[in-house]
Amino acid sequence: MNMDDIFSQFGDIFGGGNPFESFFGGGGGTRGGRRVQRGTNLRIKVKLTLEEIAKGVEKKVKVNKQVVCHTCTGTGAKDKSSYHTCNTCGGSGSVRRVTNTILGQMQTTSTCPTCNGEGVEITAKCTTCKGEGLERGEETIAINIPAGVSEGMQLSMSGKGNAAPRGGIPGDLIILIEEVPHETLKRDGINVIYDLYINFADAALGTSVEIPTIDGKAKIKIDAGTQGGKILRLKGKGLPEVNSYHKGDQLVYVNVWTPKTVNKEEKELLEKLKNSANFKPQPGKSEKSFFERIKEYFE
Ligand SMILES: [Zn+2]
Ligand SMILES: [Zn+2]
Repeated sequence: MNMDDIFSQFGDIFGGGNPFESFFGGGGGTRGGRRVQRGTNLRIKVKLTLEEIAKGVEKKVKVNKQVVCHTCTGTGAKDKSSYHTCNTCGGSGSVRRVTNTILGQMQTTSTCPTCNGEGVEITAKCTTCKGEGLERGEETIAINIPAGVSEGMQLSMSGKGNAAPRGGIPGDLIILIEEVPHETLKRDGINVIYDLYINFADAALGTSVEIPTIDGKAKIKIDAGTQGGKILRLKGKGLPEVNSYHKGDQLVYVNVWTPKTVNKEEKELLEKLKNSANFKPQPGKSEKSFFERIKEYFE
């Protein structure tokens, strides 16, 4: 997956907008010819469990940010009488000047010096925000996180960042994804890995064991004569790919546990079994080599 794909799909999810603009965009913009300031982007981290990543989740996050000043509703003016359309530019934010040059008359347009391009003049500033139109505040934002995201991925919500001074364009909210490690399962891309340990007797006689999966417990059958190192594949029990119907698998690595110590009785039993013809390793065609198992895993 390349960067473009990631950005375009989150652009869709979070209501469009060019994400590059918000990542690399400048400090301002224009609205109807007038200059407006742009709010800064806000970065937050969101921690997700493997279960949340598997299904996708809506996270409600309380964000401390710059919001529109409640006293002046963002105008930056003390009251209505201290806020009026700029007399110099008539509210357009720009002034036209005609100059005579050797090539004839030339008309140039420049930013209005009185209002600095904002189109309004403030004679008395709001005391709460000192004319900025902003104050610190909190907002609870619902973030829809699509299934299959991974550690380090960034999502962008256009316009959910810091508010902009005096009615400008708000910045974006950038969400950095963090994964909470799972207690028993390991993630490997879209696959989920579980290390299963069974004892030697169960490996020889066969058994059925309960193992954890992303959607709860599952019972799996271990065939009689299972070799250590076998990889069992639970189709579709992995994680989804972002923005796709493709799903990974759960891989169960079968480890055969060798006792680290044995008592006298166990030792006698093992000594007896040791020389039995069936106990002599006889890898045949049905036994997959380590290399084959790895290859199968990556297929
Ligand atoms: Zn002006
Ligand atoms: Zn204010």
